[in-house]
Amino acid sequence: MKPPSNDSAWPQSFRLGRRLFLTATGCAPVAHLLAADPPRPVTQASVPDDPAAPKEQVGTVPPSSPFDEPLTFARKDLTLRVKPFSLTQVRLLPGPFRSAQEANQALLRRQDADRLLHTFRINAGLPSSAKPLGGWEKPDSELRGHFAGHYLSGCALMYAATGDQDLKNKADYLVAELGKCQEHLGGGYLSAFPVSLFDRLKARQRVWAPFYTYHKILAGMLDAHQFCGNQAALRIAQGMADWVDQWTAALTPERMQMVLDEEFGGMNEVLYNLAAITSSPRYASVGDRFTKKRFFNPLALRRDQLRGIHTNTHIPQVIGAARRYELTSDIRFHDVADAFWRQVVDTRTYVSGGTSNNEGWLTEPNHLAQELSLRRETNECCCAYNMMKLARALYAWSGDPRIIDYYERNLYNHRLGTIDLTNGHTQYFLTLGAGSWRTFSAEEGSFWCCSGTGVEEFSKLADSIYFHDENGVYVNLFIPSELDWKERGVRIRQTTGFPAEPRTSFEIITESPQQFALKLRIPSWVSGRASVSINGKASEVSADAGSYLVVHRSWRRGDRIELSIPMDLHVEAMPDDPSLQAFLYGPVVLASRLDTAKLPDSLVVGLQAPDLKKQPPPEISPLRAEQADVRRWSRPSKNALDFEIPAAGGRTFVPFHSIGPGERYSIYWKVV
Ligand SMILES: [Zn+2]
Repeated sequence: MKPPSNDSAWPQSFRLGRRLFLTATGCAPVAHLLAADPPRPVTQASVPDDPAAPKEQVGTVPPSSPFDEPLTFARKDLTLRVKPFSLTQVRLLPGPFRSAQEANQALLRRQDADRLLHTFRINAGLPSSAKPLGGWEKPDSELRGHFAGHYLSGCALMYAATGDQDLKNKADYLVAELGKCQEHLGGGYLSAFPVSLFDRLKARQRVWAPFYTYHKILAGMLDAHQFCGNQAALRIAQGMADWVDQWTAALTPERMQMVLDEEFGGMNEVLYNLAAITSSPRYASVGDRFTKKRFFNPLALRRDQLRGIHTNTHIPQVIGAARRYELTSDIRFHDVADAFWRQVVDTRTYVSGGTSNNEGWLTEPNHLAQELSLRRETNECCCAYNMMKLARALYAWSGDPRIIDYYERNLYNHRLGTIDLTNGHTQYFLTLGAGSWRTFSAEEGSFWCCSGTGVEEFSKLADSIYFHDENGVYVNLFIPSELDWKERGVRIRQTTGFPAEPRTSFEIITESPQQFALKLRIPSWVSGRASVSINGKASEVSADAGSYLVVHRSWRRGDRIELSIPMDLHVEAMPDDPSLQAFLYGPVVLASRLDTAKLPDSLVVGLQAPDLKKQPPPEISPLRAEQADVRRWSRPSKNALDFEIPAAGGRTFVPFHSIGPGERYSIYWKVV
């Protein structure tokens, strides 16, 4: 969540992190303020003050501006190459992802719906005796109500993924009660804060992202409709969107573009989704008003002008562009999504799969070592959430398994470790600086943006394991799970100890033989020849890394398939500093613990990032080249992914996701 600014100049409005705004507006106090940090010396020439570096375009447009013409919405659906299964068709089986799902499920069950509704009821003039929540949901926080939207989505997704009836009931209750609030507010507008925040937005006065929160509630309503079958939720969403239509129609296009300087979440996407559900192009036209030309124009021309902008303000806009492309086949929107994807994934993504630093991109492309040296708040979790959502859309267009390589990298190294399995609390930043540690939200005093995307993420972990086309099933992720392909009368049960073991197996469950192709992803990281056996018999079929191994046959009940995907240690160096290296086993990033004792909760709970002023990083000796030579590393146990380095004082490397709260670690190592 970026802070607001009175200054309409683009770069200035992206410089601060969310926490500075909170402090400035008297919201939840924060334990540390990075504004107080002295700027670090810039030793490399290129960023951020390199006079030769390309400058952002402020108040100007590129020579050719594909989005300057008025947009017209004409429905022409894109044919998807591969289609997702409904979340209701995939169940997670016991394993680390199921554990993460259950931790989140328990968190959702603990939340008191009346406390989530408190500020909505007060705003609507309805009585509420519930104890107010804290953090970003405090009654004086301008972002209040955002978590209720995420919560609604989280409950709806969790109901789809598990059939949890209690959470469906809670979602239905929230919808009904929010509907009463909407009625009291006139039948359209629905929020936990007054409409005056939008007046301030219109007047370009300081305000904290009212459309961002409005988007969360709208999206929550659509999820409650889609996954819980709640019809009232759709009516409420339409009323909310009607209000947006009215509000935005009153602005000149120029004024609307100024409004879009303030973070507005995925307003375009949710309005396109509403247009698709209701077959009403009017909502799509309202969505088009949220086209930020200054951002989309350079992307459509495939120019990287991301330096200096706030990361998570912009990823949801690109998800909206992807949705617009799916509904209209308008190539401009394809180009926006595709160019953005390549710029972020190829040149601005850390080894963990995450992106962003201090919520923005501070450098030119391929300057990740420089980026890492500037601030410690790398990898905002919302960014990982939204990039994975974008990846899923792009994958459906192309069926390109390399997109799943990216998705998998994020899933194992960013998402899996960012939830505390004991309580479901989640992280804000996943800091990669040496000597950092994981920090987690508090039960009642956080409600950060990333807490919101967290309750959604860990409700839908099953949504990208399997896809399908007319010919068969694509198996993308090696996660214990069961797919119910009910359209074909087939169930596929996957069991695996991956990534501790380099294999996975499948059992076919069907009443009668079924002819279809099983397309098994062979990841880019595979080391050696991937192979498959069917009912214990080795098959000749193979496939290259970065493709699918296809087994097409008539499948019978009880058929068993074993896929072997050899894994090995490998190294990834920073593009701008080859001596700064990270180590991986297959897709799993490895980290080394720096202490034997954990840090106290006071340094872990409720902090958005590790407070290095209170616990400065220890001296970390660089690795000598022979120590960093992964061919010399040993793996003492076949059941665990622990690696020992010879002649390094007993130093071991373990999966980054297994490093728990309060354990200091190092990911990137200087190799000399
Ligand atoms: Zn966030």
